[in-house]
Amino acid sequence: MTTDSGREVYLDHHATTPVDKRVVEAMQPYFTKHYGNPASKANHSIGHTASKRIEQVREQVAEGIGARTGGEPVAKSIIFTSGATESNNLAVRGLAEHAQKNDAGSHIITSKIEHEAVIEPCKYLEEKGFDVTYLSVDEYGQVDPMAVRDAIRDETFLVSIMAANNEIGTINPIKEIGSVVDDYEDVWFHTDAVQAIGAVDININEMGIDLMSISGHKIYGPKGIGALYTDLKIKNKIEPLQLGGGHESGKRSGTPNVPGIVGLGKALELAVENRENRVKHVEHLRDQLWNRLSNELDNIILNGHPEERLPNNLNVSFPNVNVKELVRMSLTEHGVMAALGSACASGEDTSHVLEQISDDEDRIKGAVRFGLGKDLTKEDIEYAADVIIKEVELTESIFG
Ligand SMILES: *Cc1c(COP(=O)(O)O)cnc(C)c1O
Repeated sequence: MTTDSGREVYLDHHATTPVDKRVVEAMQPYFTKHYGNPASKANHSIGHTASKRIEQVREQVAEGIGARTGGEPVAKSIIFTSGATESNNLAVRGLAEHAQKNDAGSHIITSKIEHEAVIEPCKYLEEKGFDVTYLSVDEYGQVDPMAVRDAIRDETFLVSIMAANNEIGTINPIKEIGSVVDDYEDVWFHTDAVQAIGAVDININEMGIDLMSISGHKIYGPKGIGALYTDLKIKNKIEPLQLGGGHESGKRSGTPNVPGIVGLGKALELAVENRENRVKHVEHLRDQLWNRLSNELDNIILNGHPEERLPNNLNVSFPNVNVKELVRMSLTEHGVMAALGSACASGEDTSHVLEQISDDEDRIKGAVRFGLGKDLTKEDIEYAADVIIKEVELTESIFG
């Protein structure tokens, strides 16, 4: 798309990210040269090469999320999937099916502001006879660890609470929730860490996490690849969602996406390696954007937690503005790309997350999400701020 200024500023990094060039380079040989099927590893070298590589990445991913025993990464704890939607389904539905078969629980605890990929499996399980508690969050979008404790009962087998929210960027007290769940035998803690990885220091062992979902395309890796981490003591308690050749130790049949897996491993390595610098950079840009918007616009409200939030997230409400028109027409015309609520729920009328943190209709309807990225510059943000301020003032004068 060409815009009046020719400039494009992508501020929708919670929806997806561009693939890092180093990730593309790492993937390249696995399309044309090392194209083998890992399942053919015993038959020939080309299969062996592919198989060996994905086992290395399994270790690399375990290392990246801090899944270690005795200093060694626990490669077997990683199940490669098609993305975090599948990882979340595998964790929630896979454990539920096993629990049902073995009479090992019928109650799940989650929150009202989870991603659809957790909420929808939970709703599905309710139809199948499970009981689900959807915890409320506070005005900033945080889950109270004490509320988790209060909700746990004899039938509970799973607590699924996201590490950081994809709309308002709020970071949950994961370590505290993990420690609550840890007090109960046979209750497992799953976290959707898609947005938190690379932004927050996630350490599986230190946070009491039993299962964790991650996705490639939210961390400058490719789309269509993700992983589910599972503590080895519960791996055999996950029923697979799809049956077939028994890949991924029987938990996820289907020929592995070898280039995708290589890309995920590289993306995660880069995310963890450069986390501090990346965080500082995007935080700086985010604050620059917030400072300009809040100083120059009268009617603007910050959504989410003022401190415990993703470094690249700015979610604000413009209560007097038709934000649908603002985002989809006025901003895009000038090359500034932002989002209304969440991209995954484009069918929703209003955001199920905003509805949980406010009852102010204008605030809920007026929410815009800016997701900043590592490759943006100060100049990009200055330009975006100029455009946003001008367009908000313009629509306010028409609608207000
Ligand atoms: C994007 C996202 C997902 C879905 O991940 P996919 O890999 O696109 O399936 C799940 N949870 C959160 C928090 C997300 O932001």
